[in-house]
Amino acid sequence: MRLSRYFLPTLKEDPKEAQIVSHRLMLRAGMIRQSSAGIYSWLPMGYNVLRKIEAIVREEQNLAGAQELLMPTIQPADLWRESGRYDDYGKEMLRIRDRHDRDMLYGPTNEEQITEIARASVRSYRDVPKLLYHIQWKFRDEVRPRFGVMRGREFLMKDAYSFDIDKAGAVHSYNRMFVSYLRTYSRLGLRAIPLAADTGPIGGDLSHEFVILADTGESEVFCHKDLLTFDPLAGDIDFEGDLQPIVDHWTSLYATSDDKHVPADCPVPEGDLVQRRGIEVGHIFYFGSKYSKPMNATVQNQDGEIVPLEMGSYGIGVSRLVGAIIEACHDEAGIVWPEAVAPFRVGLINLKVQDAEVSAACEDFYGKLRKAGVEVLYDDTDERAGAKFATMDLIGLPWQVTIGPRGLKNGIVEVKNRKSGAKEELSLDAALNRFA
Ligand code: ATP
Ligand code: MG
Ligand code: MG
Ligand code: MG
Repeated sequence: MRLSRYFLPTLKEDPKEAQIVSHRLMLRAGMIRQSSAGIYSWLPMGYNVLRKIEAIVREEQNLAGAQELLMPTIQPADLWRESGRYDDYGKEMLRIRDRHDRDMLYGPTNEEQITEIARASVRSYRDVPKLLYHIQWKFRDEVRPRFGVMRGREFLMKDAYSFDIDKAGAVHSYNRMFVSYLRTYSRLGLRAIPLAADTGPIGGDLSHEFVILADTGESEVFCHKDLLTFDPLAGDIDFEGDLQPIVDHWTSLYATSDDKHVPADCPVPEGDLVQRRGIEVGHIFYFGSKYSKPMNATVQNQDGEIVPLEMGSYGIGVSRLVGAIIEACHDEAGIVWPEAVAPFRVGLINLKVQDAEVSAACEDFYGKLRKAGVEVLYDDTDERAGAKFATMDLIGLPWQVTIGPRGLKNGIVEVKNRKSGAKEELSLDAALNRFA
C-alpha cells in the first residue's frame, strides 16, 4: 500500500477526549472514528488489525475443535423470556420493537439463541459433544462507555458454546477452551492470566476470566507472583486428549479477581502476592443445565433417559483486544505492534521523493516485497523526513526500511526494529532477504 493513497487520517495533537493511552493512540493513528458514545467506525488500519486478531482467534478455535457459524445480532425477546433473563438483564440490553409490535433485542450474548438451535436438532447422545462459535457484534448499553474500544457499547466478541451429555464431557469442553485461550493470547503477543472468577448473571459453578495486566485495566487482580513466569503454551496440543493436567498446572497457584478475593482467606504470603490492575480479555463458564432446563433442550442418554444438555459458554473480546494489545505494547513515540497483528510488517520510507534514483530504488524494493507477499506500507509522500519517522513510529509497524540519497550512493539502506529501536545498515539485497 502506498501511503499517498492510503486512508490514514492521523492526528498530530492528542485528542482531549481520550483518557488512556490505547484510546489516544488509536485516534492519533487514524484507526477508529467515534460515531456516538461507545460506537465506532473502524477505519482501514484499525479494521486491518481487528481482522488479524479475528483470524488468529478463528484459527485457534478451529484447532481446538470448535465449529464456526453465524447467529444474528437481533434476537426475539421471547427466547429470553423462556430463560428468564429478559427481565433480569436490565438496562444494558437494547430493546427494540419491530413494525408488528414484536419485542426484539440487540444481542448482548447468545446463550438463548444457541440453545434454541441445539434443541431443534440435538436429540441423542450420538449428536454430542458439539462446540459451536461465532464472531459477531454485540450491543450492551454500558452505563459508562469509555476508553475507546475497550468498553464500547457495540463490540466484537467471539462467543463459543458447548453441548455435552454429562458433566465430565462438559468439563472436557471447558478445558479445550481454557487451553485454546492461553494459546490464542500468546499468539497475539500477550501474557494472559486465568483468574478464578464469579459466574455472575450467566450463572453456573466453574468459571475463569483471562486478564492482561495493565494499570489502566478496570479489573483488580490478585495472584501469586510465580504465575507471571509460567511458560506460555507452545507446540502441538492434542485437544482430544486429557487436558486436565495443563489446566491443573495453570490453576495451581492463587489467582482471582476482586469479586472473589477475601484477604483473610488468601493462602499466599504477602510478599508473594501480586496486586495489579488488569484488562478482562476473555471469560469462560461452565453452567450445566442453566439454559437447557428452562428452554427444554434435552437429549436421550445411553440409558434411554431424557436429560438436559450440559452447557458452557466462552467469550473473547476481539475488539477490546485491539486496545488491550496497545496498552501492553507501546512507548512514548506510539504503538509497537507484535508481528502477529501488525497492520503491515514493513514500513518503507522514501527520504527524498524528488530524487529519481532514490524513488527508483524504493519502487523496486516495494515491488519485490509485495511480490514476496510481504505486507508493506510505502511512504511515497513528500513530507519532510522528521514527520515521516514520527508517523512510522506512531503507527508502530515492526520494521522500518529507510532509503535516502546518502546511503543509496553506497548501496546501503537502514533497517530499524520498532520495538528495540536497533538500527542496521544493510545492502538492498540483504534488506530484501530479511523480509522476503
Ligand atoms: P466487563 O467486566 O469488562 O464488563 P463482562 O464480564 O461483562 O466484561 P463477558 O460477559 O464476560 O463481559 O463477555 C466476554 C468478553 O467480552 C469480556 O471478557 C470482554 O473481553 C468482552 N467485553 C465485554 N463487554 C465489553 C465491552 N463493553 N466492550 C468491549 N468488550 C467487551
Ligand atoms: Mg460487563
Ligand atoms: Mg467482567
Ligand atoms: Mg466477564
